[in-house]
Amino acid sequence: MFKPLKILDEKNKILRMHSKDVEFPLSESDKKTIENIIKHLTYSQIEKYEKQYNLRPGMGLAFPQLGMLKKIIVIVHEYEDGKFDNYVVINPKIISSSEEMVALETGEGCLSINREVEGHVPRHARITISGFDVDGNPIKLRVREELAVAFQHEIDHLNGILFYDRINKDKPFFGENEIRLI
Ligand code: ZN
Repeated sequence: MFKPLKILDEKNKILRMHSKDVEFPLSESDKKTIENIIKHLTYSQIEKYEKQYNLRPGMGLAFPQLGMLKKIIVIVHEYEDGKFDNYVVINPKIISSSEEMVALETGEGCLSINREVEGHVPRHARITISGFDVDGNPIKLRVREELAVAFQHEIDHLNGILFYDRINKDKPFFGENEIRLI
C-alpha cells in the first residue's frame, strides 16, 4: 500500500531550523521513513503514479520537510528513462566544491514550496560529500551538474535554508556570460 507523504509547507517554521546529527544505529522508524521517501520520490517521477496519487514530481527530500530535525537526505535520480538511482546520506557534509558555479536554467523547485519562484540559484558545479549510509558506514560521494544541485538544495534544508534565499532579489536571472546554465 502506498500512502503519499505529508510534506511541510514553507510557512512552517521547522523548515527554518537547524537539524541535528543522527546517531547509529538508526531507529526502525527512521529506516521506514527513508523507505517511504524513496518510494514517494520514485512514484512522483513516474507519470502513471504521479497522476494516480496526485503527486508533485520531485527528486529530493530532507527529513525536516517531514517535521523531523534530523540530518538525513534522500535523492532519487532518474539517470536514464525509467531508471532510478537512490542516494541516502546521513549527516552529510560538503567537503570540497568546485569554483565553477552553475544554475538550473528553469530555476529550482521544492516539494515544500507550492508556488512558482522564478530566478537562477547559483550552485557549485561539482561537490564532494562525506557522510554515512543507513548502516552507519562512512561514505564519500563525488557528484556533478544536476545531481550536485540536488545535493546542495537538500543539504541547505538541514540548515534552514530554502532555495529562494539564494536568488538575488535585485537581479534574479544571470546573464549569458555570468554563469553556466544547465
Ligand atoms: Zn526543497
